[in-house]
Amino acid sequence: MRPETLAIHAGYMIDPTSGSLTPPIHLSTTFERALDNTYPSGYVYNRDNNPNRAELEARLTALEGGVTCATFASGSVAMMTLIQALKSGDHVIAPFDMYYGIRVILQEFFVDWGLSVSFVDMTDLQAVADACRPTTRLIVIETPSNPQINLTDIAQLAEIAHHHGALLVCDNTIASPIFQQPLALGADIVVHATTKYLAGHSDVLGGALIARAQLPIFDKVRRLQKIGGAVPSPFDCWLTLRGMSSLPYRMGAHHANGVAVAHYLASHPKIERVLHPFLPTHPQHDLALQQMRGYSGLFSVLVKGDAEDALGITRRVHLFKRATSFGGAHSLIEHRASIEAPGSPTPKNLLRLSVGLEHPDDLLEDLEQALAD
Ligand SMILES: *Cc1c(COP(=O)(O)O)cnc(C)c1O
Repeated sequence: MRPETLAIHAGYMIDPTSGSLTPPIHLSTTFERALDNTYPSGYVYNRDNNPNRAELEARLTALEGGVTCATFASGSVAMMTLIQALKSGDHVIAPFDMYYGIRVILQEFFVDWGLSVSFVDMTDLQAVADACRPTTRLIVIETPSNPQINLTDIAQLAEIAHHHGALLVCDNTIASPIFQQPLALGADIVVHATTKYLAGHSDVLGGALIARAQLPIFDKVRRLQKIGGAVPSPFDCWLTLRGMSSLPYRMGAHHANGVAVAHYLASHPKIERVLHPFLPTHPQHDLALQQMRGYSGLFSVLVKGDAEDALGITRRVHLFKRATSFGGAHSLIEHRASIEAPGSPTPKNLLRLSVGLEHPDDLLEDLEQALAD
């Protein structure tokens, strides 16, 4: 089946007791045993599993082309659980421009538990190969990266990882499985903040890990998920599933709107540069065409001038809202250096845009008046 169909039907079942077409939300924390002492439904306790979570995990597995999925209460705890499945003395290679919260998890917490971490420029394949050690277990990549929108060559990184006996872990939050399929390109595990495009309405946190095969590390992940319980609630799963049914169509609109806004800004005299992988001016445009079928609404611009010039634009927009995150229907604009830790490598004149689902002409008019000043 094709993604549009999988996004609606994978893991879906009409409720057998009521015939309800929309799945009921199973709030019960516990499930009854049969007279023979078995659990006929397979469900025992809500931390272990739940029908809403099972449906969400089945749908994510299908969309990413994997064999198994574990969902979590946030994207950050999904990644943290994968790190917890490692051993003291193991080594992880991660991007120097990785998602801030996950960088904190690695540096502030797991280094104290004996994990070694190297932060590397993932566009430099030789640097990644040179960073590999006999103890390297995971190479973590985020492509495109945020907020500088650098791409990582997934197929080449998979080769490097496998050559050194490590697994390739790819954060696919920004491109979504509609536009990028890391497992098909050789990655072993995909990570998602379902909070963003998958759920798609800025109203529910969630995370997921999807694996290409029944990997030993994934058995440990599953056990940590069930024993620790950093799981999404049944309602969180239900909201995420509802959002996912329109994912392919939303991504098509995010792509079209994002490209329209990026083209407009690229020719605006007050903009120095637009960082968008589907503009031919992006230094890795060829790689974008090679490994992505399209792009989301998240990209960055460098404003001519300094932080004050960039912040001025965020004060004059009306439709674009001044907020962090991305992936929802509302367009957002953010001065990233203001939210990142002091010393972050993000240029002070960088604005990140999350182009939403409004009509593109209204978005262009909004930016035109904000840039006119
Ligand atoms: C948001 C995000 C995360 C973290 O997800 P949360 O649900 O906010 O914990 C991880 N990776 C990327 C690329 C993200 O954008």
